[in-house]
Amino acid sequence: MKQHFINNRWTAPASGESIPVVDPSDGKTFDEIARGNAQDIELAVKAARASFEGAWGKLSAAERGRLMMKLSLKLLEHQEELAQLEGRDCGKPMKQARADAAAIARYFEFYAGAADKLHGETIPYQSGYTVLTLREPHGVTAHIVPWNYPMQIFGRCVGGALAAGNTCVVKPAEDACLSILRVAELAAEVGFPEGAINIVTGYGHEAGDILVKHPDIDHVSFTGSPNIGKVVVRAAAEHHTPVTLELGGKSPQVVFDDADFDAMLPVIVNAIIQNAGQTCSAGSRLLVQRSAYEKVLERAGEAFSKLRVGSSQMDLDCGPLIRKTQQERVAGFLSDARSDNIAIVAQGVIDPRAPASGYYQAPTLLRDVPFQHRLAQEEVFGPVLSAMAFEDEAEAIRLANGTDFGLVASVWTRDGGRQMRMARAFRSGQVFINNYGAGGGVELPFGGVKASGHGREKGFEALYGFTVLKTIAIKHD
Ligand code: NAD
Repeated sequence: MKQHFINNRWTAPASGESIPVVDPSDGKTFDEIARGNAQDIELAVKAARASFEGAWGKLSAAERGRLMMKLSLKLLEHQEELAQLEGRDCGKPMKQARADAAAIARYFEFYAGAADKLHGETIPYQSGYTVLTLREPHGVTAHIVPWNYPMQIFGRCVGGALAAGNTCVVKPAEDACLSILRVAELAAEVGFPEGAINIVTGYGHEAGDILVKHPDIDHVSFTGSPNIGKVVVRAAAEHHTPVTLELGGKSPQVVFDDADFDAMLPVIVNAIIQNAGQTCSAGSRLLVQRSAYEKVLERAGEAFSKLRVGSSQMDLDCGPLIRKTQQERVAGFLSDARSDNIAIVAQGVIDPRAPASGYYQAPTLLRDVPFQHRLAQEEVFGPVLSAMAFEDEAEAIRLANGTDFGLVASVWTRDGGRQMRMARAFRSGQVFINNYGAGGGVELPFGGVKASGHGREKGFEALYGFTVLKTIAIKHD
């Protein structure tokens, strides 16, 4: 069994209980993780507090940055090992797992460089005063990480929090913990002091809930589903703990008839099939100007029919979904499409060599999805792209903004004025023009509006969220 990692030591779960680790590529159990409870969380929060008040808290910003850079280099040395762990745990095609292992190293590199560049300001005030602001760490931060990109999301939230001077207690998703546990072990090897990074594995409603309610947690960073986001905010409210929420999306890819179709087609397909559609920022709605609708659907359909699905090691276009219930959920959406007469343009193929016991789903392109249908409104979190037509800019905006979500949006057009009008009109945290960046961009502030959450992670902007601003007004002659 993989134990918790607390105070730089493998630590057995107080309950002695474990949770099976299943390989989504074949549905078989191949390991176990510790099932965390209140005692384990208590130990981890105490360790993080002691480190914040001790070894980690006493480091200068430059020293923190240096350690983080060492970790970044170590992660690159272990890129293949980490990718293999992530590939098996999440079922990702190996090229995606390798990209994720490179991305976590890049997060630590980026935030290593930022650690000593985060500073306050001086503010003009009444005569006889000097006023300045300090950006101070919150203290002990909690991080609830989902299963779709464990390494990347760990890199962005823990990287930012550490750079700003906080210590961390991380509760990874019960479905995918292995890479994160190894990263914490590597951090200890490069010299991170005890208690700076602590990992408690376990179920969300147990270990996760206890962590966010803990009175000694100073900030919560949550990435996950909109419903659990609400539960976490309510739980954190008990102690007025601030929360950053990164939730889901139903992100539109808007195509006008003057778009560069050759450049666009591989991008719009990849935006939905990357990680088998299990990406919060997946481009899951395809809105196409009516004059180009049939042409775009024909070409996108050709691309979908060529997609191949297989195990992590087969390294095809898509891997399996994370678990059986997720496979059933996606199948439920497609069965609704059938009963509501929504036509399938094309589907990819599950490779016959993929183990029959794995959780596979063929990528599917649907057309003329009614705007109010759940396939146009709800997050599927699978490789399903819902296409619909629009007439003009006004209708494109109405459709694009017409869901509860607002994470990412893209527009494809050669008209410069339209690019900027659309970019400004989208209600979303990120906009791509003639491109799409599902999950990409360590440097780019990322987050949502509406049900997609609030607060920003990634980029320098995230560091503001991991700090508290203190104003100091000095009266002098
Ligand atoms: P989830 O909300 O069920 O779980 C996310 C994490 O929360 C897991 O670690 C889980 O154990 C934990 N959790 C569950 N209940 C909890 C509770 N009561 N208290 C504290 N923690 C709890 O989501 P999921 O199914 O693991 O992930 C998929 C969802 O995450 C999708 O909706 C997706 O869009 C979203 N997501 C968003 C982003 C983003 O950056 N916006 C990134 C990845 C995933």
